[in-house]
Amino acid sequence: MSPSLLDIASVREYLGKRLLCGVQTSEKRLALTFDDGPNPHNTPELLDTLAAKEIRATFFVVGRRVRRFRDLLARTAAAGHEIGNHCDHHVPLSALPAAIIRREINVCGNLVAAVTGRRPRFMRPPMGWINDKVLETARELGYEPVIGSIHPQDSRRPGTTTILRRIRRRLEPGAIIILHDGGWRIGCDRSQTIAAVDIITDELLQAGYRFETLSELTAGSV
Ligand SMILES: [Zn+2]
Repeated sequence: MSPSLLDIASVREYLGKRLLCGVQTSEKRLALTFDDGPNPHNTPELLDTLAAKEIRATFFVVGRRVRRFRDLLARTAAAGHEIGNHCDHHVPLSALPAAIIRREINVCGNLVAAVTGRRPRFMRPPMGWINDKVLETARELGYEPVIGSIHPQDSRRPGTTTILRRIRRRLEPGAIIILHDGGWRIGCDRSQTIAAVDIITDELLQAGYRFETLSELTAGSV
């Protein structure tokens, strides 16, 4: 299976100059992020797993899923997790005209604000498709664009062991890990992801790591 583009140092360096990928720190702090939810089959179990360890993460939600599973977003926010903007329909923004990019970002952001009382601060472009127009538009609308530093491609369901190996080999202080609680289909199965999260969080808590929301991780760093 092909490696993630984020495994290539020159790609990370290029992206790091243009948007948030990770944070420079020597402290054992990192952020777990979950994309494409809220999802009724996966998000509740993930929330339970995180709550049992008092870990807070950042959830990049999709507007069309929020419309359908509002209560699940409300529950996620009420549990203290940060909510990020992952656009309204999860389409490749860089292929679209500016007016649609604006709409995709605004509709999702406004929905999150309506449900949680708080507008997201961060925006993750779906599938990582970016260009200058996408980044400028997101910033104009008041969002900080973010990718991440570790992308174990959990949504392809490579197996819990592979997901763990891909996270461990790239793990470092300041990392932003990209995972998925949702997917293109509502029926998607993220049990491998949840199992991997359960194992890696135990491991890292024991190693002295602290899990932070993106706002906490970037405080004083960007
Ligand atoms: Zn996504």
